[in-house]
Amino acid sequence: MSELRVGLGFDVHRLVPGRPCWLGGVLFDHPTGPAGHSDGDAVLHALCDALLGAAGLDDLGTLFPDTDPKWKGADSAALLGEVCARLGAAGWRPHNADIVIATEGPRIAPKRAELRTRLAGLLGLDPDAVNVKGKTLEGMGALAGGAGVAVQVVCLIAR
Ligand code: MG
Repeated sequence: MSELRVGLGFDVHRLVPGRPCWLGGVLFDHPTGPAGHSDGDAVLHALCDALLGAAGLDDLGTLFPDTDPKWKGADSAALLGEVCARLGAAGWRPHNADIVIATEGPRIAPKRAELRTRLAGLLGLDPDAVNVKGKTLEGMGALAGGAGVAVQVVCLIAR
């Protein structure tokens, strides 16, 4: 039987005007997008952290510091590729992931199938091994004078 490990990832980004709205490696047609040093894709960042956490490989901020100009405007799909390569080098492969996206921004449900297919492709999995759930933030971001996206990911890895 393969060895299994579980990992947990979380990320949050503000949604601001004038930024492309990348979430889960999918471009949403929306007037605001996640602020950030990279493309701000909170879904991919939380997914990376879940995978790294499961493998005991620190976290995204340690591997790709936002003070490093190399990662300015970085495509987070490339970061996930690097994370998967590091897992592979340590003998691990993703097994499945369950993802909650809470946001006052774009509606997630209409793009759920596209998100699952895109994320599964990035992870080398079948879409049925990657689940995506969209939630609202019940207007709480407005209390802080803005809007945002918060993402939680649980994943299993195997070797
Ligand atoms: Mg982030």
